[in-house]
Amino acid sequence: MTLSTEAIQKSEGEWQQVLSGPQFHVLRKEGTERPFSSSLNDEKRAGVYVCAGCALPLFTSLMKFDSGTGWPSFFTHIPGHLGMKKDFKLFLPRTEYHCIRCGGHQGHVFNDGPAPTGQRWCNNGAALRFIPA
Ligand SMILES: [Zn+2]
Repeated sequence: MTLSTEAIQKSEGEWQQVLSGPQFHVLRKEGTERPFSSSLNDEKRAGVYVCAGCALPLFTSLMKFDSGTGWPSFFTHIPGHLGMKKDFKLFLPRTEYHCIRCGGHQGHVFNDGPAPTGQRWCNNGAALRFIPA
């Protein structure tokens, strides 16, 4: 696992070869998995959550909380490893975020999270891989 954040570029076909169907749908098509469909939703062990596309660490277990939404949720993230953009797919703009290295879509960030940040990073489980400590 490398911590370089130098951009990884792959064609759509190359991504399809290395990702599962659900991973490709979320990471490369900005898809959203069904709530409560990811086993990571209930993951409570200590460890690190890395991008399913390129293995860049994005969150740790210390950042996770149970939001009750059905998606793995975090109140902060590993600094410098996520990029953000406004997403106008719904009527109200929301903030999309993605892996800074491979550009893979991860989820959306909302302002109704717990202290200390008040943020809720609502992540697709298919876009993450959990590495137990
Ligand atoms: Zn990535």
